[in-house]
Amino acid sequence: MPAEPPIDTPRHLFEAYGHLAAGPSRPIAGGTDIMVAITGELGAIPERMLDLSRIDELRGISLEAGRLVLGARTTYTEIRRSALCREHLPALVEAAATIGAAQIQNRGTLGGNIANASPAGDTLPILLAADAVILVGGQRGEREISANEFFPEYRKTALAPDELILQVRFPLGGGRELRFRKVGTRRAQSISKVVIALGWRGGASGWSDVRVALGSVAATPVRARATEAVLEGTHPTPEVADRAAETLAGELKPIDDVRSTADYRRMVSARILHRLLRDAGGW
Ligand SMILES: Cc1cc2nc3c(=O)[nH]c(=O)nc-3n(C[C@H](O)[C@H](O)[C@H](O)COP(=O)(O)OP(=O)(O)OC[C@H]3O[C@@H](n4cnc5c(N)ncnc54)[C@H](O)[C@@H]3O)c2cc1C
Repeated sequence: MPAEPPIDTPRHLFEAYGHLAAGPSRPIAGGTDIMVAITGELGAIPERMLDLSRIDELRGISLEAGRLVLGARTTYTEIRRSALCREHLPALVEAAATIGAAQIQNRGTLGGNIANASPAGDTLPILLAADAVILVGGQRGEREISANEFFPEYRKTALAPDELILQVRFPLGGGRELRFRKVGTRRAQSISKVVIALGWRGGASGWSDVRVALGSVAATPVRARATEAVLEGTHPTPEVADRAAETLAGELKPIDDVRSTADYRRMVSARILHRLLRDAGGW
């Protein structure tokens, strides 16, 4: 028997780009979304698939130039166990802990959640609120895309068919804070009815760079810009929290569907935001 060839990660990445350029092919990472499609329960069955499991360049969690960098194949279990994530991005660790149960967390990846682009994808509001950047690559080279521009419409992404998600890069420092809450039918194994990420920079003169990002309330993960404007330059006092919650309830236009009603989503979103502001304000 010939010995296994040594794993040459750049070569595997290069070959993967070649496969994608040669014709339509669906990458498969953890397979937790794709396997549902293969059974025909959701979406079209892919004709060709590209296994990402040998591309080690898509793995790893590191600090680089003031950013926390996660490879696209990073699983939720790896995020939960990562000392770097726990120290620098605890909101992502919290989100990872709410996704599916142990089996899904062991296989499901951050890159898969992003490429799947479900409006209920739990990590996506965190990406928006953290001003994360997604590094993608293909035969034509690599490019960074802001998470805020990555989800243009329902289940569509800015990724070209011949590109892979390589990394997610989270800027750190500068007094950045981030909080996360998910509301589902139960604590585990539930698709979210509402998910919120709140980001800001603290300062004596008030909050700046405020981000209010939500999932499961629109066709894509969204920023609540009017609510952000209410919070910008303020401190999280009870009066500010009342005004922000009211603005959010007016700003959101969710739909009724099998998981929840529009009214419930609007009311709960406002309540959660109020609670997050109360916790941040310490009152
Ligand atoms: C029982 C169950 C419970 C779940 N619970 C939750 C939950 O609570 N919250 C939640 O958000 N999701 C949940 N999911 C959905 C799923 O687990 C996540 O979206 C997961 O992150 C998908 O990652 P994956 O690696 O398994 O993706 P895959 O199934 O391998 O791929 C998903 C999509 O991403 C593409 N893709 C994957 N990696 C790349 C890459 N590097 N570059 C380009 N495209 C890529 C694939 O082609 C495919 O279109 C659940 C799924 C199941 C089956």
